[in-house]
This record gives sequence, C-alpha cells and structure tokens, in this order.
Amino acid sequence: MSTFTESEERIELRKQVAKLASKYGRDWFTEKARAGEKTTELWLEIGKAGYLGINIDEEYGGGGGGIGDIAAVCEELAAQGCPLLMMVVSPAICGTVIGRYGTPEQKQRWLPGIADGTATMAFAITEPDAGTNSHNITTTARRDGDGWVLKGQKIYISGVDEAENVLVVARAEDARTGKLKPCLFVVPTDADGFEFTAIPMEIVSPEQQFQVFIDDVRLPADALVGDEDGGLVQLFAGLNPERIMAASFSTGLARFALERAAAYAKERSVFKDPIGAHQAVAHPLAQSHIEIELARLMTQKASALYDAGDDMGAGEAANMAKYAAAEAACDAADRAVQTHGGNGITQEYGMAGLLVATRAGRIAPVSREMILNFVAMHSLGLPKSY
Ligand SMILES: Cc1cc2nc3c(=O)[nH]c(=O)nc-3n(C[C@H](O)[C@H](O)[C@H](O)COP(=O)(O)OP(=O)(O)OC[C@H]3O[C@@H](n4cnc5c(N)ncnc54)[C@H](O)[C@@H]3O)c2cc1C
Repeated sequence: MSTFTESEERIELRKQVAKLASKYGRDWFTEKARAGEKTTELWLEIGKAGYLGINIDEEYGGGGGGIGDIAAVCEELAAQGCPLLMMVVSPAICGTVIGRYGTPEQKQRWLPGIADGTATMAFAITEPDAGTNSHNITTTARRDGDGWVLKGQKIYISGVDEAENVLVVARAEDARTGKLKPCLFVVPTDADGFEFTAIPMEIVSPEQQFQVFIDDVRLPADALVGDEDGGLVQLFAGLNPERIMAASFSTGLARFALERAAAYAKERSVFKDPIGAHQAVAHPLAQSHIEIELARLMTQKASALYDAGDDMGAGEAANMAKYAAAEAACDAADRAVQTHGGNGITQEYGMAGLLVATRAGRIAPVSREMILNFVAMHSLGLPKSY
C-alpha cells in the first residue's frame, strides 16, 4: 500500500541531522559567513556521521542510500539555518556522475573523499558567454598524447576555494566528425594553469562563487569521466539530483524563515494581542506553510522517481519541485521580514539576509524561466521557445 509519509528511516535521518545541525545553529553560521570563514567543522562532522555520502555506494565509503536521503540531509541542515551549498554540488552532482559513469579506479580515487567530506568536488558548467544556454559552452579539451589539454573560462562556480577538484564540463573534438561534444573532466584545483578569483556576492554565505580561468591545463587520460561519446546523457545524470537538492535547499531555508516568523508573531504584541492574532500577519504565514509543504511533496516525489530509476519522470518532477521550492522560499523569506517589522532588516534577527539567499534559488542552478520553458514544451506540448 502506498503512503504519503516518508519511511521511518528517513524520518529518523531527518531528526538526527536536525539535532546535529542545531548544535551549530544560525548565529554560528552567519558569524562564519560575515567573518569570511568556512563552516568546515560542520561539513566534516556530517561527513564523519555518514550523512554527506549517504547517497554514495557503500563500496566507496558511502551509505548506499539515494537522492531522497541526501536531499533530506540538505533540507534539515537548511531548516536549522545552516544551508550547505556544496552538498548540492559535491555528493549530489559529482558523486552521482562519477558513481554512474566512472571506472572502478576513478570511483575508488574520488568517491571516498566526497563521501567523508575530506575531498570536496566543485562542479563547473556555467560560462560567461553561454550563460543559461549550456549548448554554447566553449571550454575545449584537446588531445595531447595520452592525455588532454583544457582551455576555457567558467563563472559563478561555487566553492572552488574549498574543493580539491572541480568536475568541469568541456567539449572534446570528435575524431571522426570533427564536431565538439560535451565531456566531463576532473580537474585538480591546484593544477598549473587553473586560476580562480572570487566574485563579490550579496549572499550571506560561507561558500563563495568564483570566476575560473583554465589556461592550457594538462590532464591525464583518466581525468575524463565516462565515455567520450556518452554525450549529454552523462551530464544529465547529475542535473536531476542537482534540481532535487536545490529544491531541498530552498524548502529548508523556507522552513527556517517561517519558523522564526511564526515564533515572532506569537510573542510580539503592540496592540492588545500578539501580532499573529491579526489575519494580515497570520494568513501570509499560513499560505507559506501550504506552499512549502506542496514543494516538499513534489521534491519527495521527484526523489522517489529518481531513486526508482525513472529518469524521465524524475526530470519533470525535479524541475517542478525546484520551481515550487524557490517560489515558496522567496515568499517565505519576504513574509518573515515583514512579520518582524524593523527587526526584519537588522543583522541581529538575520531575516533580511535570507532574501538574497532564497532569491538565488530562482536563478540557479536553472532559472525559473527555463523551468517554465521546459514545462511548456515537455508537459504541455507547446512549441520550443528557445
Ligand atoms: C549563488 C550561485 C551559485 C552558482 N553556482 C554554480 C556552480 O557551482 N557551478 C556552475 O556551473 N554554475 C553555478 N551558478 C551559475 C548558475 O547556474 C547560472 O547563474 C544560471 O544558470 C543562469 O545563468 P546566467 O547567470 O548566465 O543568466 P543568463 O543566461 O544570462 O540569463 C539571464 C536571464 O534571462 C533569462 N533567460 C535566458 N534565456 C531565456 C529564454 N530562452 N527564455 C526565457 N528566459 C530566458 C534567464 O532565465 C535569466 O532570468 C551559480 C549561480 C549562483 C547565483
């Protein structure tokens, strides 16, 4: 019999992660971010506890679970005010792609460090000129003896400074047709010719975004992950997990904002009752609760489809979940600020910082417009608009 609740194991996992994250909490997280420091202790602790690599095969140091599990971890951390962006990238995208398409040697080399957090892997697809249109990327891999030489530029790449390696999406020339085809390469961040500079962002986050310059970086043959002719399928393997994780990141942040707002609305009184007694304050918060729960349900559906091996079904659900979660999170953050009045803009209450953090979810990893394009075309059968 099917049910709409998660398994007991998943519910217990959520509880344990929330307990661990609550030891750190929002104040600790924002202090680190504002001081330009990292949240490495938390990262390593969740790695040691087995949560970071929960979706990675047991054979390679992981927990043998699915995307549903790592998404639950991501959401609970964010719900405690400690969102870890690199979870979206390192275990969920890179861990999935290498787990699916890497050779046994590549898996042995990279997955254990991704699983325990000691060798984080960033992910780089976005380029300054291609932007949303990933088909236009120009970072190129040219054969050089047994190996490769990589050249190009990437932008908005998260956590390059914290990562040992970056999984770079490039194009390699097809020996037969001469056409450039998408390929994935693991590039060490300390490789000669690999440079990066931080982009000053308005997000209150310990993780930063970088512009990356790849200037004739030499790579060995086994830096190529997957089949040279595998094409987009290999890349797409990482994108559904990315969307599911982004959705969980957003619903977690939304829950955090809403919980703070509801607590404040119960306590703050300026006329005779607490402000939450006024429907003008209560209804927007109730609306957010509904929107967040709907987005969580779709995220859980997307995870369940993905973990059951239904990539096509998961694609539609993951896009819809990511859209719904980002919208719910932006609205929840805005309503949380409003509920707090002037306090909503202070650093002490920490609500205004959530406006930008949640807003990023409407843009990355895929914008709301591109999701609407996808749904218009694939779900409704409308003509392709881009
Ligand atoms: C916080 C953050 C972290 C990130 N981390 C990473 C990372 O780790 N790795 C990585 O590779 N990238 C990362 N990115 C990049 C992110 O994926 C891109 O910003 C995103 O895909 C949008 O690309 P763009 O910024 O070039 O916008 P553009 O492509 O220039 O788009 C600008 C606007 O035009 C709209 N638009 C464009 N084309 C169409 C169309 N056909 N129809 C309708 N609307 C359209 C877009 O929706 C958007 O609103 C990150 C971005 C942010 C903000």
